[in-house]
Order: sequence, then C-alpha cells, then structure tokens
Amino acid sequence: MRVAIVGSGLASLAAYATLRHCGVAAEEIAVFGTHEDPTAVWRERATAIRQTRMRSESDGHLAAASWPGLALRERNPRAWAATLANRYHPPVELFLRHAERVVAKTGWSQSFHARRIEHVAAVDGGFELDGEGPFRHVLLATGHPGLARPVPGAVHAYEPHDYADRVTIVGAGMAAAHEWLNALAAGSEVVSVRRREPTRRPLNVPRPLLTKRGLDGYHRSSPEQHAATLRTLSQPSYPTGAAWDEPLAAAEREGRFHVATEVNGAANVICATGFLEGFQHDPLLARLAAEHDLPTHDRWLVLAPDSTVTQLTNGRTLAIAGIAGQWAFPAADTIAGAKYAARAFARRVCRTR
Ligand SMILES: Cc1cc2nc3c(=O)[nH]c(=O)nc-3n(C[C@H](O)[C@H](O)[C@H](O)COP(=O)(O)OP(=O)(O)OC[C@H]3O[C@@H](n4cnc5c(N)ncnc54)[C@H](O)[C@@H]3O)c2cc1C
Repeated sequence: MRVAIVGSGLASLAAYATLRHCGVAAEEIAVFGTHEDPTAVWRERATAIRQTRMRSESDGHLAAASWPGLALRERNPRAWAATLANRYHPPVELFLRHAERVVAKTGWSQSFHARRIEHVAAVDGGFELDGEGPFRHVLLATGHPGLARPVPGAVHAYEPHDYADRVTIVGAGMAAAHEWLNALAAGSEVVSVRRREPTRRPLNVPRPLLTKRGLDGYHRSSPEQHAATLRTLSQPSYPTGAAWDEPLAAAEREGRFHVATEVNGAANVICATGFLEGFQHDPLLARLAAEHDLPTHDRWLVLAPDSTVTQLTNGRTLAIAGIAGQWAFPAADTIAGAKYAARAFARRVCRTR
C-alpha cells in the first residue's frame, strides 16, 4: 500500500473521499483509526451540545467536489439561495446521512484498520507506522488531543449530559453559548462562570482567510504574526444575533441567568471549555516532533502552506489535517479545513502515480 491516513474522523473521511475521487484504489490506502464510523467522535460531541445545524457553510460537506453540496437535497428554495451566497448551514441530520453515503460510496470500510498508531518513523521510501509500511504518503488526522476540563470530575459539554435545576457552566465560547440556551430551555437556572466578557464575532474565520489572496498574505507573514493570528482566532467567542441574546436577556430578567467569576464549589458543573491546545498533548505528534527535530512555534507544528511537514516531504509526503494543521490553514479544524488539507495531499499522491 502506498498511502496511509492516521485517524478516522471527519478530516480522514474528507481525505479518503478526495483520494478515491482522483483515482487512488481502496486497496492502495490504509486508514488506521479508533472508530470505524468516521462521524462517531463528532456525532457524540455535537449531540451533547444539542447542535441541530452545521456551523460550516455551503462547502461544509465531505464529498470531493464542492458543487452541488447539500442544499439541493433540501427541496427548499431558501436553502438554494443561501448556498449561492455561501451562507447555507445544513441540518446535522442531513450532514450525517450524507457522511454515511460517502462512507458507502468510497469503500472506506475496505481500507479501515482498527488500530491506534503510536509511532511514525521516516524511513527510506516513506514512513513506517508502528513498524508497518513503508507508506510513501502519510496524512496525520488525529483530531483534538483531549477535552479541557478545568474543574476535575465535572462533565464536559461535549460529553452526554442532562441539566439539573441549577447548573454552573464554565466557559465563554461557542459551546458555552449553546449550553446556556440548552439549560435555560430545559428550565434550569444558569450560572455562567467566565474570566472575561465573551468575544462576539462571526462563527467562521474572517472571510479573507478563506480566499487565495488572504491566505497568501497569511502564509507570507512572519512566524510571530502567524502565531498572533492563530491565538486571536482561538479565543473563545460566539456570534452576535438575537437568537443568542434574547433568551439570555429574558432569563436575566427572570433571575434565571447569573454571571460569576468562580465556580465556588457549586454542584452540577459543566465545563464548556473546549479542548487541550497544542500538538504537545498528542502523544503521536509530540513524539514525531521530538524524534525528527521538527520546527515548532509555541503550541504549533510549523508546516508548509500545503499542510506538509517540509523536512520530511521530499518524494514522499507527510501532511497534517485537522487542528494540528492550523499553521498551514487557520480554519484547519473545520470541514473546509479538512478539505484544504485533503486536496493538497491528494494532489501530491496523484501526481506521483
Ligand atoms: C461540537 C462540535 C461541532 C462542530 N461542528 C462543526 C461544523 O458544523 N462544521 C465544521 O466545519 N466544523 C465543525 N466542528 C469542527 C470540526 O469539524 C470537528 O472538530 C471534526 O470532528 C474534526 O475532525 P477530525 O477528523 O480532525 O477530528 P476527529 O473527528 O476528532 O477525529 C480524529 C480521529 O482520530 C482518532 N485518532 C487520534 N489519534 C489516533 C492515533 N494515534 N491512531 C489512530 N487514530 C487516532 C481519534 O480517536 C478520532 O477518531 C465541530 C466541532 C465540535 C467539537
């Protein structure tokens, strides 16, 4: 086999579908992962925060080609108009059915090996994965390295949970905003614990960073500017809009929504505090960086604009998709980001046939 993908989430499926689309046979690809269903990890998290619509926009699907996307499946002219303006947010159910179709159509199960990979070694002709291979082209798509849980023992917003009569929700980003509204809708009284006022900004990264010109500017910027951009984008935030503000304002008037700076020993705490940040928390990536002396900057692996590890990509390919690929593409942890890495990876694989 020539090609391996490590990780079995949405980024992995996007890459797999893109490789199959450019003509790489299923027998030529090995996917090493922990879940045969590539939606399993995402589905549990999205279900936990009761997400009903995708955050991603029109290109936020897993098919190799951008068009036609999912809007046309809705039989709803409003959805069609929204997709033309790249403002369409598919329902989660529609997205999940689509993912099932991509799995079935591409032959994903034929390539899937239930196995957690612990070691990537650069060898002649490619890379060995736990001694297996060599694989000439490898994409690492291992996802977030774990949940951030500042209150030990508390449930995390991305884990299954219900709402007690009074809940304390730690955090001030998108997951926290979902949880305030979920808990209020369930009839709970909410204490929002936050260190500072939430930042309000659009859900997705600034549009210029999704254009070729904007990305070129980002890629040309210094490492310090790269890191500054990524740090700003990683700050907890949620969008503006009445859908968020009105339920909170009404609950405040009713005395059912309070803000505090400390948990203060409260019962029923939900950590809506996102993920551990940085490649150092992912044992596979930390070991890879240490053993191959890879360049890093703060919590990021330094990558080429096409999401490859420059030092290890020379006739062979080592590329990174998902959150650990943020140096190359600021919105790496989105479906659009998964596709960005997938397309660059497939271009390399298909060029060397
Ligand atoms: C609640 C929630 C909602 C989101 N909604 C959207 C949305 O609507 N639109 C959007 O664009 N983005 C969304 N995102 C962001 C992003 O799309 C998801 O985080 C997505 O799951 C990222 O996919 P991934 O493949 O990088 O990681 P994951 O889905 O986490 O998959 C990684 C997989 O690799 C496995 N793995 C890890 N290490 C190894 C190893 N060493 N060997 C083998 N396997 C390994 C993991 O166990 C896991 O199965 C959302 C994120 C969250 C948390």
